[in-house]
Amino acid sequence: MTITENLHTIKKNITETAREYNRDPASIKLIAVSKRHSMDSINEATQAGQFLFGENYIQEASEKIRSAHTNAAFHFIGHIQSNKAKQASELFSMIETVDRYKLARLLNNHLEKLDRQLDILIQVNIGQDPNKSGVSPKKTEELLKQIKSLKQLRPLGLMTVPPFTRDNKIAKIHFRNLRLLSIDLAKQNLFANNDCVELSMGMSHDYKIAIQEGATIIRIGTAIFGKRPEKT
Ligand SMILES: *Cc1c(COP(=O)(O)O)cnc(C)c1O
Repeated sequence: MTITENLHTIKKNITETAREYNRDPASIKLIAVSKRHSMDSINEATQAGQFLFGENYIQEASEKIRSAHTNAAFHFIGHIQSNKAKQASELFSMIETVDRYKLARLLNNHLEKLDRQLDILIQVNIGQDPNKSGVSPKKTEELLKQIKSLKQLRPLGLMTVPPFTRDNKIAKIHFRNLRLLSIDLAKQNLFANNDCVELSMGMSHDYKIAIQEGATIIRIGTAIFGKRPEKT
């Protein structure tokens, strides 16, 4: 299957799944996760009408963003080390992985100098998985309260990578928990737009379940681009 065909299939699945669960398909954004895939793959996707991408590594992303189609936008979805905050603040249309105040403050400082506001999501470790980044569900409220004073950051919602499982029932519980947490936080006016909170959840193997549970952003790599090349 080509990238173009895969994109077509996924978009069809998004539309069908959304309709099945009484959701507007237009309320779900597809991020094509292009980490470790070539510029040729990204270009094929933009030719097929896909302009939103996700990248996990700052250096790799900065090279790709420079040569990508001018209408392409990139979300950062990887772990950010504090010493990469400056570069990250310049490159992306959204950073989905803010999980600590120190990082938020560093981003805000750099953004002030650039006179730029940036959309962010809080990465929540919804399954309390010791191997995953993200703030714990309990501490998410406190982090968002701290971020309120950082005027260059626009916290639009939550992002999660739940522990890997092939059990759809367990995946569903994690996604539902993220949505319930977001409702609680929106009631306290902790997001930039509390009527429309973004939920970035769901990958190649579980995006349909995520859509059922309210995902507004799904991040799909393998099902679009195929197996990722090994790191070199
Ligand atoms: C790699 C990655 C994805 C895409 O995963 P696939 O299983 O290839 O769809 C999504 N989200 C994050 C945070 C990732 O690191």
